[in-house]
Order: sequence, then C-alpha cells, then structure tokens
Amino acid sequence: MAELEGKLALVTGASRGIGRAIAYEFAKEGADVIINFRGSEDKAKELAQEIEKLGKKAYLAKFDVSDFEEVKKNIKKIEDNIGNINILVNNAGITRDTLFLRMKEDDWDKVLKTNLYSVFYVTQAVLPMMMKERWGRIINISSVVAFTGNPGQTNYAAAKAGIIGFTKALALEVAGRNITVNVVAPGYIETDMTANLPDKVKNAFIEGIPLKRPGTPEEVAYLVSFLASQKANYITGCVFHINGGLYRT
Ligand code: NAP
Repeated sequence: MAELEGKLALVTGASRGIGRAIAYEFAKEGADVIINFRGSEDKAKELAQEIEKLGKKAYLAKFDVSDFEEVKKNIKKIEDNIGNINILVNNAGITRDTLFLRMKEDDWDKVLKTNLYSVFYVTQAVLPMMMKERWGRIINISSVVAFTGNPGQTNYAAAKAGIIGFTKALALEVAGRNITVNVVAPGYIETDMTANLPDKVKNAFIEGIPLKRPGTPEEVAYLVSFLASQKANYITGCVFHINGGLYRT
C-alpha cells in the first residue's frame, strides 16, 4: 500500500517550487491534497489536474497565509466541506533581500508575516483536527540560512530561525496526541525563488556546495514525504538538513 493512502494533506504555497513538488509526491504516495496558493491560480489548477491523473483528489485553497482571519475562515471551510487535515506542510515563503541598514520596516514585516507568523496562523487553525484524530504530521520548511546566516537576509534568517524554536516547543506540547512536528531546512534549491539571483552569486553558492550542484524540489519532497509517513512515527522535534553538504551538524 502507498505510504500516505487515506490521508488528507494541506501544503501551503503549493502552486510552485518546493511546495508543488511536495504536493505531487504526497499524491504519488496515496494522499489527497489541498493546494494552497495566493496568486498563481493557473499553476495551482495545472497541479490539481496532474494530481487527479494519479487518481487522487486535489482541492484548490486560495488564501494568504499571512492573514490570520483569512486563514481561519479558509481552514474552517476545508474542515466543513472536505474533512480533517492529517498532514500539514508549512511551506509558503517569500524573500525581500536587502542589507540590514537599508531594510524597510515593510521588508521586515512582510517576510516575518509570510514565513513565520503564517506558521502560527495555519498550525493553530489546523491542529484541533489532528488532536481529534489523535494523529497528525506537521512539517515546517525552514532554511539553511537559519543556521549559517546570509548577508542581505536578516529578515528571512530571523523568520526561518523562529520556525526552529516553534517546532521544538510545539513537538513537546502535542506528542501525547501522537502528532509529530519536524523541520526540513533546505539549502540552495532550484526554484523561482532562486532563479533571479545573479549568475555570479549562484556560481559562488554552487562552489561552496560539496555536491557541486543545487538541489531539486523533488529531492526535498522525498524527505518531506518520508516524514509524513508511518515510517517516521518515532521522529519529532527534529531538524533535517538537505543541502548537498553545505551545512552539517
Ligand atoms: P517559490 O518557488 O517562490 O514558491 C513560493 C510559493 O509560496 C508559491 O507557491 C507562492 O504562491 C506561495 N506563497 C508565497 N506567499 C504566500 C502567501 N502569503 N500565501 C500563500 N502562499 C504564498 O519558493 P520555493 O523556493 O519553492 O520555496 C518554498 C519554501 O522553501 C519557502 O518557505 C522558502 O523559504 C523555502 N526554502 C527555499 C529554498 C530555495 O533555495 N528555493 C531554500 C531554503 C528554503 P503564489 O505563487 O500563488 O503566490
């Protein structure tokens, strides 16, 4: 039997990049998937069609993860009309890179709201469903920069580091209900987020990666899919690095 058969998964920011690959991998492993997105409706629809071709159900959920009221309203709609969410991946994220002294309050707020507050918003709305079922999987997508830092990303590094503490604390709160909470921290992965970096910066990144290449969204998705499966029953409160050897603990 496929590892995620019978499960309903919500992946935030699933219209593109890493979230898209995770949603598709979950469906390959037998889950029905809720595809959250904010703007890329055509891409989300395209993914839903791909998932349906696999014989699984795909639902579109357009909402802004950085807006608590919108999150609560939409998660309630999902609960009432689709069912209990068993697997949550907090993946939606943005960057607003600039050196700290030039950083505008808005660059700070938008990045913190989208990358960190969203994790609080969506998880708080979804968790009661997992508590009821006495089973759940929460996987939060952080970043290698939470550990290494990166010039121009004080906002992003702060948000991604916040996810680590959040995960460790929540894992302890919900372990008794058989709900696991873990972090996946990718390094340099080829997506739209990294596509606009100047070639010079990209080449310098790659030079520093022991495996000498960027990762693919699918490679991240395989790890997330494992953590969502029954095979990962005894893993909680942990951080998993996936970065081609760039950062090791
Ligand atoms: P991406 O290609 O830019 O895709 C971002 C996704 O997030 C899109 O589906 C986008 O949806 C969604 N999104 C953004 N803001 C949203 C909001 N307010 N509400 C709902 N959805 C929103 O990014 P990615 O590279 O796949 O990154 C995915 C995650 O991995 C992020 O958390 C990122 O920080 C993390 N990460 C990425 C890398 C990397 O090298 N790529 C490395 C480490 C960590 P719309 O298009 O519909 O707006």
